[in-house]
Amino acid sequence: MSIPALATLESIDLRGKRVLLRCDLNVPLKDGVITDDGRIRASLPTIKYLLAQGAAVVVTAHLGRPKGERKPELSLAPISIRLAELLGTEVAFSSEIVGSQSAKAIQGGQVVLLENIRYEVAETSKDEAERLVLAKELASYADVFISDGFGAVHRKHASVYDVAKLLPHAAGYLVAAEIEVLKKLTQAPERPYGVVLGGAKVSDKIGVISNLLDKVNVLAIGGGMLFTFLAAQGKEIGKSLVETDLIPTVNELLARAEQLGVKILLPTDIVVAKEFSADSTPTIVSADSIPADQMGLDIGPDTAASFAEAISQCKTVFWNGPMGVFEFPNFANGTKVVAKSLTTVSGISVVGGGDSAAAVRKLGFKDEEFGYISTGGGASLEYLEGKELPGIIALA
Ligand code: ADP
Ligand code: MG
Repeated sequence: MSIPALATLESIDLRGKRVLLRCDLNVPLKDGVITDDGRIRASLPTIKYLLAQGAAVVVTAHLGRPKGERKPELSLAPISIRLAELLGTEVAFSSEIVGSQSAKAIQGGQVVLLENIRYEVAETSKDEAERLVLAKELASYADVFISDGFGAVHRKHASVYDVAKLLPHAAGYLVAAEIEVLKKLTQAPERPYGVVLGGAKVSDKIGVISNLLDKVNVLAIGGGMLFTFLAAQGKEIGKSLVETDLIPTVNELLARAEQLGVKILLPTDIVVAKEFSADSTPTIVSADSIPADQMGLDIGPDTAASFAEAISQCKTVFWNGPMGVFEFPNFANGTKVVAKSLTTVSGISVVGGGDSAAAVRKLGFKDEEFGYISTGGGASLEYLEGKELPGIIALA
């Protein structure tokens, strides 16, 4: 897709203005504790800039998929505390989105975070008129709209898309940076260009594989999705994750790759175990002989080494999706070896996807070791699939 030129933060007079800021604060939580605050950190530069301009900032964001219900475990309250710590400024939290309480909070504070916008059923509604009612409420809080929630720009939601039509608007620093990186990946990328895909489901990534097939030099496939590829080749995959309904689609892809002369790298060895658990005993087997009673939980060491070798020769690399169940140390090696190889790329290396970003941090890598760690999974993938991003189009 083509991307419109986006108005920058600096192009708008923000002094003394009230700003509605859409952020992506959708961080992983475990028992109410934030396990990776990457997305909150990524939101800071824009908020700091707005404050430095003397603007009053009303932040709107979502967490998970409450589908219009006030699910307490998806409250943004713990996130407002972390945001205040990182900013070093007070953040007023409004437990309602629309109503007298939020109006009062907005009048009182320099930075206000509104409760999970997806508690409002209108946020994600397919009915434009319904979304517009909420968008108008949000717009009434501010003079200007700044869009910085990159992880949600592929959604036609009230706080992402509709509100941009109601207020003067611009892209925040994060959205601008993410779009710059996506342009580098799509507009004449430096070659060789390698893409590594993993993660749980083929269905999430099939569109991207299909669209990138004739654009890349190397395409390596790991993670849970690799087993649908092995199954398509007629191999025994035991109890591994598989999406049987996609086997015909995968077969078409493999045939098209062959016609195009594009080499899809598939694993030659697999780390298997009896159960999906942290202490299940790992065994390395050939990709041709996965025992019927076992499941594949990581790519094997030979595969990891050959993926790493191919990646390290590339000048542009995009990686989305862990190579195995990295959450369990016994099955994290493939992800670690691939991550390491990205740090050696002499051109640009991009890590995309919520779990992939969390994985590299959990495995001890520093953000600076990569060219760029994207905050958006779905948004980047949809862009690379060639789809339009409504939240970006709306900023034109
Ligand atoms: P991202 O959020 O980076 O886009 P995904 O959400 O697609 O990544 O996938 C991440 C998940 O995939 C991880 O939780 C990981 O445990 C899982 N995964 C990777 N390999 C396997 C496998 N072989 N079997 C089951 N799950 C896997
Ligand atoms: Mg994920």
